[in-house]
Amino acid sequence: DPRINGIKTKIRVVPDFPKKGIMFQDITTVLLDPKAFKDTIDLFVERYRDKNISVVAGIEARGFIFGPPIALAIGAKFVPLRKPKKLPGETIFEEYELEYGNDRLEMHIGAVEAGDRALVVDDLIATGGTLCAAINLLERVGEEVVECACVIELPELKGRQRLKGKPLCMLVEYR
Ligand code: IMP
Repeated sequence: DPRINGIKTKIRVVPDFPKKGIMFQDITTVLLDPKAFKDTIDLFVERYRDKNISVVAGIEARGFIFGPPIALAIGAKFVPLRKPKKLPGETIFEEYELEYGNDRLEMHIGAVEAGDRALVVDDLIATGGTLCAAINLLERVGEEVVECACVIELPELKGRQRLKGKPLCMLVEYR
């Protein structure tokens, strides 16, 4: 799709952020270009509009940028999966490993119902640990996770293999 190259050119790569040796993929520059931002959303909406998805689950923080416009366009509810201690209601959580230490994702109990069909959205998949935690969280409450959607994949880190067999749709690869 010719739109993908336009999106790719708007992603800014920032060397040594947040620490030395990391090539940080910055999507904020995509958001500054209304066409590239719209194309990003449209590509996902075209893919998911007829897939009977009832929940879009967005991962904090950049899944909160791409998830809601997709949810609105396909007529699904939006559920935020948040970092610890942000959600005011009763929550369940999944822990996952970072390079140093652990982090966790939390979800409100009651946000989704058994039998909902979920799409998980984030900006980027690296090792896949974050998306794996999101899938586990949703499956624990009886969701069917239909697919994961990311703008960017770092394929060398083989994150796809950690998605418990769920398909991944991504727009741009960075090697
Ligand atoms: P993973 O759990 O190793 O797949 O890392 C993915 C998570 O880290 C996502 O929530 C991303 O937003 C974040 N992340 C890792 N690397 C980058 C990057 O280069 N740019 C933006 N986000 C990143």
